[in-house]
Amino acid sequence: MVTDRRKFSQENVEQLESNSDGFIHLDRNLRYIYVNNKTDKLLDRGRATMVGRSINDLMPELNPMILKAGRKAMEENKKQELEIYSELFQIWLRLLVCPNSDGVSVYYMDITKRKQCEEVLRQSDERFKNIFQNSKIMMAIIREKDDCHIEVNQTWLDVMGYSREEVLGRSLAELNIISGISQVRWREANQRVRNKEKLFTYEADFRTKNGEIINTLISTGPLQLNGEACRLSSVIKDLTREKNLEVELCRLDRLRLAAEMAAGLGHEIRNPLTSVRGFLQLFQGKAEFADHHSTLQLMIDELDRANVLISDYLNLARDKQVERSEQQLNSIIMDMYPLIQADALVRGKSIFLELTELPELLLDENELRQLLHNLVRNGLEAMEPGGCVTVKTFLDGAEAVLAVADWGVGIKPELISQIGTPFFTTKVTGTGLGLSVCYSIAQRHNAQMEIDSGPDGTTVYVRFKVS
Ligand code: ADP
Ligand code: MG
Repeated sequence: MVTDRRKFSQENVEQLESNSDGFIHLDRNLRYIYVNNKTDKLLDRGRATMVGRSINDLMPELNPMILKAGRKAMEENKKQELEIYSELFQIWLRLLVCPNSDGVSVYYMDITKRKQCEEVLRQSDERFKNIFQNSKIMMAIIREKDDCHIEVNQTWLDVMGYSREEVLGRSLAELNIISGISQVRWREANQRVRNKEKLFTYEADFRTKNGEIINTLISTGPLQLNGEACRLSSVIKDLTREKNLEVELCRLDRLRLAAEMAAGLGHEIRNPLTSVRGFLQLFQGKAEFADHHSTLQLMIDELDRANVLISDYLNLARDKQVERSEQQLNSIIMDMYPLIQADALVRGKSIFLELTELPELLLDENELRQLLHNLVRNGLEAMEPGGCVTVKTFLDGAEAVLAVADWGVGIKPELISQIGTPFFTTKVTGTGLGLSVCYSIAQRHNAQMEIDSGPDGTTVYVRFKVS
């Protein structure tokens, strides 16, 4: 029944017959000499009838490819490999076409399952790529062995301000992306991912290209990419706003506490002071205290100083009535100028004004005077004699900005977070209330106060919204 067995040993034939893969032996004209059992079943023609017929007759759909590979195998005397899909049998076949003395042998196997798996993998790959690239979440794939970025998504680039070329192939350390303390946490997290092979979530601070720090919650886990061990890191939450809010809330809470205390204690302290001051003035007028006149004056001056302090403190009061009206910020500054200039001159320093025209703003004149006074005073106190404080006003988009800049020593970075806390001072005779008062005045004016400080000086910006 097996056709033309001459060419095959008994052993060969048994092997071919029992093989689950297909086998076809063709002559130089690509006509059947022999097909094995598997092929017989697949074609279902009765293999005895096939001998001597061209493969054209039986597999018209596949023959162009098989013919081509068969001819090439014979011409080049080299085996050919191809993968083809049969619509008729709805299967994928992998063919090995080998030249021999009769013509060619075609070994083939059904690779439909493998192809299906490949397709599933390709689709899941595609899906992953889509999710990765289009996600609104920042994502990065980092190679374990050298910490280099292999891929980052568009959101990552948008937030961090880098171009893809700047990032790919470079490590986190090279880009100086992970800021300060986060580095420790980050290394620890990577180690944990490496050891335990699981997803790990931690907080980290990123430094963007322009130096801004963003606080994030990151999830990182192992990922195998092209046979290489990698990590997939995704920012699952941007905590920057929350962090800023927390800081702001703490500051407001401290202000509230100070304000409540101010309201309660201020008057209680001022009343006895007023009566003591009254008695001192009375004694000053009496002949028997004539020798002590200057001492009494000193005591009165000291009490007045204490009173000013209490007034400053009372200004923190939360329920303070603000009397705002539309007016020119520049006029308030001009009115104040002689006073602050005199204050500066006494200290061997000077004040410059750089005012640009602004629209009218809703301002409480008294509070603005106090704000300016406190800021200028701080500037003057931060500088050596000869220094200069510049008071500027300008428009920045929808904001009118008051800026007070000095050439002073600056504020140490580690102290910045405490600035504005009532009673925080680095000065021997300071009260630590000036900036607290400024913050509460700014707040009552819906204005934002920002401090920009470095070793070359400090600038305090107060940004008023232009209505
Ligand atoms: P005080 O001036 O009484 O110390 P402030 O609230 O006005 O209180 O200021 C608090 C602290 O902030 C100061 O002691 C100083 O350390 C710092 N500071 C404020 N303004 C400046 C400035 N322009 N330059 C340097 N340090 C400043
Ligand atoms: Mg001050």
